[in-house]
Amino acid sequence: MIYSNEDFLLLSGIQHMAFCERQWALIHLEQVWAENVRTIEGKHLHNRADDPFKDESRKTMRVVRGMPVVSQKLGLRGVADVVEFHKSKENVEGETSRLENREGWWHPVPVEYKRGRPKPDDRDAVQLCAQAIALEEMLQVSIPLGFLFYGQTKHRQAVALDISLRQHTMELSKSMHQLAREGKTPKAQKGKHCSLCSLTEQCQPYWMLRHRPVGNYLERMCRVEGEEL
Ligand code: SF4
Repeated sequence: MIYSNEDFLLLSGIQHMAFCERQWALIHLEQVWAENVRTIEGKHLHNRADDPFKDESRKTMRVVRGMPVVSQKLGLRGVADVVEFHKSKENVEGETSRLENREGWWHPVPVEYKRGRPKPDDRDAVQLCAQAIALEEMLQVSIPLGFLFYGQTKHRQAVALDISLRQHTMELSKSMHQLAREGKTPKAQKGKHCSLCSLTEQCQPYWMLRHRPVGNYLERMCRVEGEEL
């Protein structure tokens, strides 16, 4: 499916969708946002990486920061933290592209910056994969590998952009578009992840799960009062 311009959603939201679909809807449909330590630290890390005017160059590599990316296949647009362009000795059909004001042929490699440590799930990897899919469409190349850089470990981790990761990324973007079309926020699915969520207060997952009909509440209250009397 090819999305039209008015249907485009924020690419970075795919990490929220991978974490919890209710979180995605609260942020992207209801515009609810809360900053906790994690999001503030994440933003600080991004402020350093996401600088569109800073452009490092070396002989065999060019680093572009804050590069706008768009994918019509996914219906997502956003900004890639860092895209490294590695110089190739020759043109490799479908793998290298030209660069403005640069001679030769270049392999693009996306690098996404994250706070903390590598996570037990693939929410960072799907965001990186969505960036890679967008770059592939824009530059007419295929990108087999990207990197995640973690602020706490100061290490970068290679991520193979294989078929299963691409399929998961496609599925998540479809779910984002479906929820956006329906305009409905899904119910809370309480889990361990709620303790790491920046929206626990706004989401109230425990209250929602314990919620019973008002009739039951009134009945209970009357019973309690009756017992006390
Ligand atoms: S508190 Fe839990 S259910 Fe609610 S948005 Fe966060 S992760 Fe999702």
